[in-house]
Amino acid sequence: MHILITGGAGFIGSHLVDLHLARGDKVHVVDDLSTGSQANIAHHQNHPHLRFDEADILVWPNLGRAVGWADRIYNLAAVVGVFRVLAEPTNVLAVNIAACERLLRAAREGGWQPQMVLASSSEVYGHNDEDILQEDQDLVISTRAGTRWNYSVSKIADEALGLSYSQRFGIPAVVSRFFNTVGPRQVGRYGMVVPRFVAQAVRNEPITVFGGGLQTRSFCDVRDTVVALDALATAVGRDTLVANVGNDREISIIDLARLVIERAGSRSQITHMGLREAYGEDFEDIRRRRPNLSRLRDRTGFQHQYSLERTIDDLIVIERARLQEERDGHCTLVRPQSECAA
Ligand code: UDP
Repeated sequence: MHILITGGAGFIGSHLVDLHLARGDKVHVVDDLSTGSQANIAHHQNHPHLRFDEADILVWPNLGRAVGWADRIYNLAAVVGVFRVLAEPTNVLAVNIAACERLLRAAREGGWQPQMVLASSSEVYGHNDEDILQEDQDLVISTRAGTRWNYSVSKIADEALGLSYSQRFGIPAVVSRFFNTVGPRQVGRYGMVVPRFVAQAVRNEPITVFGGGLQTRSFCDVRDTVVALDALATAVGRDTLVANVGNDREISIIDLARLVIERAGSRSQITHMGLREAYGEDFEDIRRRRPNLSRLRDRTGFQHQYSLERTIDDLIVIERARLQEERDGHCTLVRPQSECAA
C-alpha cells in the first residue's frame, strides 16, 4: 500500500511509519518539523520505502501529487499540546483546520478517493460529563473560557470536513478520536503529563500535579494506538466512521504520580500547583475522560498489548539513558539536538 502521513515525524506519526514500513508498505512523510523531529524517524534513514519531505502542507506545491499517489492518508499535522494551544490560539485554528481542508480539497480536485484517516481528539467531547464517552454523544464546548477550547473547535471542524467530503465527494474518512496517547517519543514540553512526570521522577525532582489531582484520564500506549488505528482503517475500508481510539483503564492524576514514583523507585515528592499557576490563566480542566471502545472492538476485535505500567517502565529506561547522556555532556540518538539545548 502507498501511505502518506502528514505530521509523520511527530509522536504518533512516527510510530505509524514504523508499523507500515515493517509491513512492506511505501511511506511518504511530510512534516514541517514544528513539533516533530527527524530524529523520530532517523532509524529508517536510507530505507528504500520511505520518502521524507520537510514541508508545510498549507503551502506545499507537491501536495496534489502526494495525495494522488496515496491509497491511505493519515492526517496528523496539527498544532498540539495544551501549552502550545494556549500560546498560539490563532495558529491552532488556522493550521489545524486549513491543513485538513487543503488535504481533502487536493483529493477532490484530483478526482482521487484515497482513504482519509483524520486525527481527532477526546477534546471534542469538551464538557460532556458522562462517565464514559461514546461517539454519538454530544460535543459540549464551553463559551466561558476564551480561547481554551480552540483545539477542540479545530478538531470538530476537521471532523465536519471529513464527513462532508465523504458525503459529497465519496472520499472515505476514518475519524479517530484519540484519548491521551502516551509512549516513547512524546515530549513534555507542551504540557503532556506522562513524559513530564517520568522526567521529574527520574531526576528525583518534585512531581507537579496540576489542581487537586482527582481528575482522571485513560492513557493508551502509542504502540497500541497505531495498531488499533490501522486495524480500524482496514476494517472500515470504503465506509466512513467516527471512532474512539484509546484505552479504557482509568487513573487519577495523583495516582499516576504515585505510580510513576513507585516504578522509578524515585525519591520525588508530589507537589500541587494551582491551574492558574500551571497554565497562566483560569484554565478549565476536564474532570474525567474515559472512552467507550465498543465501536473499535466490534469492528476490529482489538486487544491492548501494553499496560500503563509497561509504558511507564519503558519511558523510565529511555529517560534514564537521556539523563546519562546529559551528564556525559553529549546528546545523540535518544533526543533531537534541538531539545538538548533547551
Ligand atoms: N497535568 C499535571 N501535571 C503536569 C501536566 C499535566 O497534573 O505536569 C494534568 C493536567 O492538568 C490534566 C492531566 O494532567 O488534568 C492530563 O494533562 P495532559 O495535558 O497530558 O492531557 P489532557 O488534559 O489534554 O487530557
